[in-house]
Amino acid sequence: MPTLQRLAEIPVGDIKRVGEKRAEALAGLDITTVLDLITHYPRRYIDRSRQADVAGMTMGEESLVLARVESVKSRRTRQGRALVELDIDDGTGRLRVTFFNQAWRAKQLPVGTEALFFGKLDSYRGKRQFTNPVVDLVGNRTGRIVPIYPTSEKAGIAGWEFGEWIGEALRRAGELDDPLPDHVRRELDLMDRTAAFHAIHAPGSFDERDRARRRLALDELLRLQLEVVMRRQANERDARGISHRVAPVPAEQDLVAAFVAQLPFSLTAAQTRALAEIGTDLAGPLPMHRLLQGDVGSGKTVVAVASLLVAVQGGHQGAFMAPTEVLAEQHFLGVRELVAALAVPDPATLAGSRPLNVVLLTSRTPAGARSKMHEGLRAGAVDIVVGTHALLTDDVRFASLGVVVIDEQHRFGVEQRATLRAKGRDAASGEGADPDLLVMTATPIPRTAAMVVFGDLDVTELDELPAGRAAIKTLWARTESDDDDAWQRVRDQVAAGHRAYVVCPLVEGTEKSQAKSATQEKERLEQTVLSGLSIGLLHGQLKPAEKEGVMAAFRRGELSVLVATTVVEVGVDVAEATVMVIEDADHFGIAQLHQLRGRVGRSDLASWCYLVSASSTPEAATRLEALVKSTDGFALAEVDLELRGEGTILGARQKGRSDLKLASLRRGDRELVTAARRIAESLLAEQPPLESTAVLADELRLFVGDDEAAYLLKS
Ligand code: ADP
Ligand code: MG
Repeated sequence: MPTLQRLAEIPVGDIKRVGEKRAEALAGLDITTVLDLITHYPRRYIDRSRQADVAGMTMGEESLVLARVESVKSRRTRQGRALVELDIDDGTGRLRVTFFNQAWRAKQLPVGTEALFFGKLDSYRGKRQFTNPVVDLVGNRTGRIVPIYPTSEKAGIAGWEFGEWIGEALRRAGELDDPLPDHVRRELDLMDRTAAFHAIHAPGSFDERDRARRRLALDELLRLQLEVVMRRQANERDARGISHRVAPVPAEQDLVAAFVAQLPFSLTAAQTRALAEIGTDLAGPLPMHRLLQGDVGSGKTVVAVASLLVAVQGGHQGAFMAPTEVLAEQHFLGVRELVAALAVPDPATLAGSRPLNVVLLTSRTPAGARSKMHEGLRAGAVDIVVGTHALLTDDVRFASLGVVVIDEQHRFGVEQRATLRAKGRDAASGEGADPDLLVMTATPIPRTAAMVVFGDLDVTELDELPAGRAAIKTLWARTESDDDDAWQRVRDQVAAGHRAYVVCPLVEGTEKSQAKSATQEKERLEQTVLSGLSIGLLHGQLKPAEKEGVMAAFRRGELSVLVATTVVEVGVDVAEATVMVIEDADHFGIAQLHQLRGRVGRSDLASWCYLVSASSTPEAATRLEALVKSTDGFALAEVDLELRGEGTILGARQKGRSDLKLASLRRGDRELVTAARRIAESLLAEQPPLESTAVLADELRLFVGDDEAAYLLKS
């Protein structure tokens, strides 16, 4: 029985009727092997039982007709767009078909061609027509459901050709090896693999198509989860963790307890729960790999600092990495203030103790200060280092790195995460230990998505905001009078002693052009709607000292309005800020808008967020309305995922992710993600390993790089 591995070794040109010339065209679609061919799935399906007569079609409704091309005309519109016009006839009547920007249609559909046309009937100058319909050359296919393949027509390959080649490939392959154990298949009511491949390409019914899709999607997700679980096992196999000193710790050494006791507030139940979960990980012998998810303002920083302090109270060091200078500075100031009252034992001093040594290390740290910090880190004199990518350079070494916290994990690659963790050991000798790792997201993502994107991490959620926060009222300012209301609100709130943010429109181009536009916007506001107010400016081109100066003045209230670029997106924390105006709000994504909005509503004062946008595209409307309706980051994450799909969450992450052709992280496939994780775990737990696990591991090789596979599979 052929495995997928075997199918990946057969060139597509070997399939009867493909031949050399067509193989070339297929290569243009990245299809070079039989495996590529049979995993080239239809983009959509047309139901031929819903076929209509041209004479009987209804205006504005979608319909499908089988008709013959009677005439073809190609020309250009006055705007220079390619225009192809056909007349088609099915014996009951004639119809005009118009294609814009698809010049190749003239070649594809010469007079005499019979094809299926699927589209919405509209009219132009009183004539009934289809505009840019879906077209499928029928060939001699007879099935009720016609699969439509992506980009096939453009490449000069007809849908029916795909159908034929794939049919031939599957016939020749015969029964495919199915590595999924029978009991798993039964339990999840899944088709076998061979049937699924047949049915996805030539379904007898839509139900069959759905079942085939479900099976093949599970395969994709299972490969991914196998990778994830194996990665975790590989990490654990090679790990030399630190069993940290967590409670009970002698009171005079219990930094965490001292830290919590001196906070001006008590922890939320969610924070307490998170700290308990983290504490268990830290105390254990395996290094922690944990994701802390929490909404904007849920108090992740306090949890992060408490985790770092666990390292420090055991005589180790903590590192806190953030993606930008602004955020690193902000965290540095925050951490320093939070631990200001704490001390660590130091027999060398008169008092027998000294204050915690917290430093900030970024690429802007002057050379002299930097080498002093490097020295302090190596000697163990620095307890906590906060920094940017600058922490990753080779000359940053630690006496004993115990806990690593990475904020806004999504902005770092897996490699960068690994680089920082590796600093627990001596690069040459391998001496030392692997620090515990806590990563944080700026805004939450749905749990199942996290299971895929951050699959090798355990997840802790802070699903509760500190008490006493007044709700933020969010308004979509669509009209000029809405705009006036927004600026009036800013003036009123400033008059009441509060503060406001104005987030500038995003401009294309460099940070410099963004800074310039922010500067102009500030001037415009000073001269018009906000004249007389003291307005500050914050953008990425300012020097750190300037930024700090502006932020400090805003915090003190010397500046009452801050015109800013998205540098305020992260972390900035001023309790008196009660209004935010986001200009051109439709240019931002949901997560970013939510993150921006989180800069207000940070106290018990009533707050407002104005989303200024005259855009009326349905997509923008859905986004802005979601923000208006909800302030719950977990709920918004769901909307975001439904709207944009996984692409944005996955980004350009690992190669394996490109294996997701059918599976989706949207609601429909959530059940499959969890199932895949469960199956992967139970398969890999089998001792001795199952035959099928070896086959699956081989399949994994097809989808992850060779080095990666070697690392994962070494036993
Ligand atoms: P985020 O999760 O968005 O990073 P922060 O850690 O910046 O949130 O916390 C937001 C604000 O809430 C900070 O001013 C912080 O001091 C405050 N805070 C954190 N935990 C609590 C709590 N348990 N009660 C009251 N305020 C809290
Ligand atoms: Mg934060």
